Amino acid sequence: MNWHITHAWILGAAIPTALFLFARAVLLRFRLLRACAPVPDAVAEHGTRIKEVLTIFLEQKKLFQDFKPGVMHAFIFWGFLVLSLRTVTMFGMAFYGFDFHLPGLGPDTLAGQGFEVLKDAAVAIVTLMVLYAMVRRYVLRVPRLINTPDALFVLLMILGLMVTDMLFEAGLRGASSPLTGHAAFQLHCLGILAFLVYIPTGKHMHILTSVFNVYLRPLHRSGRLTKLPLEDESVETFGTPNIEHLTWKEALDLYTCTECGRCTDMCPASATNKKLSPRDVINKQKHFLVDDEAARLLSGDKTKEPSKDMVPDVVSAQEAWDCTTCQACEQACPLNISHVQRLNSMRRSEVLMKGKFPPELKRVFKGMQTNGNPWGMGAEKRMDWAKGLEIPLLENTPDAEYLLYLGCNAAFDDRAQKVSRSLAALLKAQGVSFAVLGESETCCGETARRLGEEAVGQALIEANVELFKELKVKKIITPCPHCYNTFKNEYPDFGGNYEVFHHSELISKLMESGKLKPVDNSQGRAVIHDSCYLGRVNSVYKPSRDILAALPGLEVTEHERSEKKGFCCGAGGGRFWLEEGEPRINHHRVKQLLETKPSVIATSCPYCLKMLSDGIKDLGAAGVEVRDLVEIVSGTGAGPEAKNEPGN
Ligand code: SF4
Ligand code: SF4
Repeated sequence: MNWHITHAWILGAAIPTALFLFARAVLLRFRLLRACAPVPDAVAEHGTRIKEVLTIFLEQKKLFQDFKPGVMHAFIFWGFLVLSLRTVTMFGMAFYGFDFHLPGLGPDTLAGQGFEVLKDAAVAIVTLMVLYAMVRRYVLRVPRLINTPDALFVLLMILGLMVTDMLFEAGLRGASSPLTGHAAFQLHCLGILAFLVYIPTGKHMHILTSVFNVYLRPLHRSGRLTKLPLEDESVETFGTPNIEHLTWKEALDLYTCTECGRCTDMCPASATNKKLSPRDVINKQKHFLVDDEAARLLSGDKTKEPSKDMVPDVVSAQEAWDCTTCQACEQACPLNISHVQRLNSMRRSEVLMKGKFPPELKRVFKGMQTNGNPWGMGAEKRMDWAKGLEIPLLENTPDAEYLLYLGCNAAFDDRAQKVSRSLAALLKAQGVSFAVLGESETCCGETARRLGEEAVGQALIEANVELFKELKVKKIITPCPHCYNTFKNEYPDFGGNYEVFHHSELISKLMESGKLKPVDNSQGRAVIHDSCYLGRVNSVYKPSRDILAALPGLEVTEHERSEKKGFCCGAGGGRFWLEEGEPRINHHRVKQLLETKPSVIATSCPYCLKMLSDGIKDLGAAGVEVRDLVEIVSGTGAGPEAKNEPGN
């Protein structure tokens, strides 16, 4: 039997068939992308994007956040880069004989000999890594991995490709029978083609899309929600009432998800048994788009109704409202898939188009509409925190360098008011030129936007931008990371451009210059809790660490869930205003922090302060106090040891 003619005939028929099926599946998915909504921002800054792609793919940077599986995936990825040349060579062998080689890689060239060694090493390493992946899934049963038939098929397929490659090589070198070698060769080539056909239909579509997905991701300002064109009368839908209202980039995310579960593993809602799992949201949307809605979307008939509503049929309302917008999922995702905007868009369509939202939000939305704050407090109460402190008003102090913008929580919440007093007292004592808006201060708009009430959010922002313009505001200091993020990352979309400082940044600078000498009453052991909106969203980690490190007698420690891996307090995304079932996120976080045996939990956000204080109280953790950085520096706080209550 002439094996080479057989190989050529079989593969001569199989290759065009496989390419046809592959192209058909890819084209269908590409046409579905085109049926989705446009992305609001132009794709620019190509240099930065190319750098990002190279870092993420060649260094496999984000995968190494989870070290062992990161190493495993990186070796499989690098191994496949080498083996792609091997695959081309083997298809060449089918038609030109087993002594075929790629130009420059002949057996008598140094490059060819080097490639042989590299290829053998790649086959061995990929085999070992696949076996390790199987152990993780089926022996160790790593919780974040779901053992679908898809996952098993892919692992067996890769293992099969490596084994047939080894058997073929053994046949070539005379270490096994020629029959085994030829059979292995044919099986290997057919296996590659089968894998090619399978790729676009399963979770390994990421092999094709991930480069584009990383390249096209929204750059910078990760804490920015897109601005809805509410004034454009031609726009009839807001958010994502149906699957085609996803942007094509959000749909590309769906194809790119590998179902690795890293997002869900880091999600505070998932960790506390809430309905929300970011991986599941992605997967539900993917299957709905490709399996249920493809025919309708590609029919071109715009009168056809979708088979289901996005909320509650594809994704439940509870899932959409469970999200704290903490971005732990996006930080963990190796492929830069976006979850926060996706979940927020579902809230937007629920609120703006259907008027549906959890009942407890009725009062919150009304408070923001009528009183300019979610507490619904009258403007005359806005300066209660400052009694006795003689804080200058910006309208009377036009030359003040900074606007001190407290935000609603720091202005109205009893506990957070103490932080506001400490901060204002510290700024005064340091001679910082600042003033406040007083009774004219209203909500920055963050809460309304996170809760999907974009109309109220935009109205608040527009009013603030106007007021800040009148008062010639250029620099803002705020103790609230949510206001910080909104001023910094969202106000530019509304024409408001300011230099924005979180109070930790300013205090750290004052300490660094030697001007601010910390009060030495801080003996004890402090654990740092990072606010999501200051830390993960805006990468401001250093100032709080510098401040605490400079305090005499204070031992500073961190939990393993800190900085980029920080765990939310449960208040973000407007969840502060929503009921939460047991187990509660703030309890979970407090339990984590208590593992470090602290006497103080150091925070830098009024929401975290409240959530963690409540958690400490609920769990009866006597002897542990939650204090803002400014209180730790000033020797003030909630507890009886607070010696320097400002204004006393
Ligand atoms: S933003 Fe936070 S709460 Fe929301 S899905 Fe991601 S990890 Fe979960
Ligand atoms: S969204 Fe990202 S992190 Fe989550 S399962 Fe998909 S690939 Fe993994």
